[in-house]
Amino acid sequence: MTRKNTPEENAAAKIRKRENCRRNSAIYRERHPERVKAYEIKYRAEQPEAMKAKRLAYKTRNPERYKAVVAAWRNANKVRLYAKRMARKLKKRRQILDYLERIQKGRCAICRQKIAGTPHIDHIIPRAMGGSSERSNLQLTCAHCNVSKGAKDPILYAREIGRLI
Ligand SMILES: [Zn+2]
Repeated sequence: MTRKNTPEENAAAKIRKRENCRRNSAIYRERHPERVKAYEIKYRAEQPEAMKAKRLAYKTRNPERYKAVVAAWRNANKVRLYAKRMARKLKKRRQILDYLERIQKGRCAICRQKIAGTPHIDHIIPRAMGGSSERSNLQLTCAHCNVSKGAKDPILYAREIGRLI
């Protein structure tokens, strides 16, 4: 007849098992770093939510270290970040161009002629006068009109070209 394990024996067995598992896992990690790396990359890609939660937990536990890790990563990935920023900027510019071309029907906002060649994105209130780069302050012009308007006050410019009294 087999004797039933005491709760203490069961607990001890559980701990042994866990320790074995940990040891084997460490051995595996040491022997197959490339497999572990591949798994981590796959996990990260497949579990974005879990990764986000992990990051947040780490940030809450170690705010200073988190800041340092982020700064180090940014420093090591400067080129990548720059390329991403530029891509975002270009995409936004393309969207603004498409929108303005549509509502202006391809015509210059100043001389009303069809824009031949590359349209210029003009700041209605010039940036030099504090005009924003939001869509509501932008218009497409032909190169000639854009250069002639320059950074002039839009009202003064309109008078200059006879559009306002
Ligand atoms: Zn024009």
